[in-house]
Formats: sequence, C-alpha cells, structure tokens
Amino acid sequence: MVIWGFRGVRSTKAKGDFFCPSCNSDQHYDHKRVRRFFTLYFIPLIPLGELGDYVECGRCKQTYNEKVLEYNPKKEAERIQMAYHAALKSTMIEIMLADGEIEEAEVKIIMDTINEFSTQEASEVELRAEIESAEAQTSIIKRRLRELGPQLNDGGREKIIQAGLRVATADGNFDDSEKQLLVEIAGSLGMTEAHLAGVIATSMAD
Ligand SMILES: [Zn+2]
Repeated sequence: MVIWGFRGVRSTKAKGDFFCPSCNSDQHYDHKRVRRFFTLYFIPLIPLGELGDYVECGRCKQTYNEKVLEYNPKKEAERIQMAYHAALKSTMIEIMLADGEIEEAEVKIIMDTINEFSTQEASEVELRAEIESAEAQTSIIKRRLRELGPQLNDGGREKIIQAGLRVATADGNFDDSEKQLLVEIAGSLGMTEAHLAGVIATSMAD
C-alpha cells in the first residue's frame, strides 16, 4: 500500500534580533515559514506552496506577524532626538541669518547651545558649513519644523523658540526681521501667536 498525504513543514527563513513586545526587550527571533508538502511514506517530498510565515520570539515563544520586525522603539526615539537637534540647530542658524549678518557672538551662542543639548561635541567647521548651506536654502527649516511640531510637547516647542531668541538677542538688538521670523517658526511648529508672545515675554524677563 502506498501511503501518501500532506503536511505543513516549518523551516527557518531568517534569524536576528528584534524588540519583542511581549518580553518588552530585545530578543532573538526566528522568522519561520510553513510550507505545505506532498508526503510519501510520511516523508515530505514536494513543496506545494506557502501556508504562511510568522516571527517567533526565542525567549517567550510568542509568535507575531512579520511587521513586528519593523517596530523598534529605541530607534524611533533616537530618530526623534536627532530630528530635534537638527531642528534646534536650523532654527538658531535661521534666526542668525534673519538680519542678513553672521556675527561671531551669534556663532558662539549656537555652538554653546548645541553643546548644551547634545552629548556630542559640536564641530565649528561643520557648523560654519551648515550656515553656508542654510543661506542657500532657508525653506528647509520650516518643512522640518512642520514635521516635528506635532511630535513635540509645549516644553519642546518652547525650547526651540528660546534657542532662537538667544541668538536673536545675542547682538543686543532684537529687530523686526528677527521677530517676524520667530512668528513664522512658531507657526510652523503649530504654536499660537499668544503662546509665542508668552514665551518671549518670559525669556526676556529672565
Ligand atoms: Zn518575547
């Protein structure tokens, strides 16, 4: 008698590390595939097609859809942190350029502020290169701020405005072009003018 049948056979498609939502930590995973086989005498002989695939945590054995591999809260937090620093720096550069002049006192404040917010030492050569390219493309900052604004809380938005203010007032003169630019930046961040006025009043009083 010929004994034949069908069977699902599991194989490992890929391995790696991922963030397991169930363990709430980084764990090893196996990306497994289940294929249907035609079997003869219980031996899988002919692959007939995929029944599905899943990701299995090596620790808790929980299984997931493969989309789980794209989820990485640490990377996401790092990405927002980097975007935040970039927006902060761009804001200060933009404010500095608002009156059409680059003063050494302003460059120094930008350097100091970057160093205050970042764990990496700022490079002055890099900053100056960035200032040069910012002169060429002033619209990028507004796009960045519009993207970032909804992800920040009020404190985060206020810090960007305060950083801009520090540069604007570095030459001892807070002029209309600088004020106007702050209004635009606040608008891009989704802040109301009243909120901006409050932040300016508080910062000036310090
Ligand atoms: Zn797990």
